Amino acid sequence: MLICRTKEEIELLRESNLLVSRTLAEIAKHIAPGVTTKSLDRIAETFILDHGAVPAFKGYNGFPSTLCTSVNEEVVHGIPSDYILKEGDIISIDCGVILNGYYGDSAFTFAVGEVSSEIRKLLEYTRASLEDGAKEAVAGNRIGDISFAVQTRAESGGFSVVRELVGHGLGTKLHEPPEVPNFGKRGTGPKLLKGVVICIEPMINMGVKETLQKSDGWTIVTADGKPSAHFEYAVAVDTGKADVLTTFKYIDEVLNKK
Ligand code: MG
Ligand code: MG
Repeated sequence: MLICRTKEEIELLRESNLLVSRTLAEIAKHIAPGVTTKSLDRIAETFILDHGAVPAFKGYNGFPSTLCTSVNEEVVHGIPSDYILKEGDIISIDCGVILNGYYGDSAFTFAVGEVSSEIRKLLEYTRASLEDGAKEAVAGNRIGDISFAVQTRAESGGFSVVRELVGHGLGTKLHEPPEVPNFGKRGTGPKLLKGVVICIEPMINMGVKETLQKSDGWTIVTADGKPSAHFEYAVAVDTGKADVLTTFKYIDEVLNKK
């Protein structure tokens, strides 16, 4: 059963996701060689609390931190630590908040200093696959239309799509139905209704699609140790055109000044 949110609920979800967008932009200012992932986590937690919200990931199934920080071969669910970012790394920052009882959830993968052209291409294609997928979040389409669009773009760059982890519904819980895979066939899966809010979050690998979980019980890494990128939008299904609740505008402003 998919939950169709009212107009008022969509506005609350927009506020929550706007705060995530602004938190990610705040983090963007601080990402540089020499910075620990733990310090980024502290900045995010303070920023979220200062804006009257609560970090959504901290304590979720026992997760210890505000952010998921996943570096290089880490796909998602990396735990902030004393790891010091270095030139050429990439880092996926995944952030969730609860504001007025509604969840925000989105992610962006940042380059640390200068990265190789191959890695830059991975970031570009992963972000583009998210944009392509989001465009399909239109009433009357099916989940498979989103999945197909994401997969098509990612694979056109020679990259592979992680299968084990998928996007999800978002609302008064962090993870609600439906599942939103990043691979699939057009015209398959649940039908999208106006007001359904979903997170689309392609996890795209430079090498093989297979992943492993580290012994910390959280961090997912690529099976071949090659880099992986991850971008995530919260999107409200609407008639005619998808209503993207996340914006990367503030992040882009920060990155363009660097
Ligand atoms: Mg998510
Ligand atoms: Mg997320």
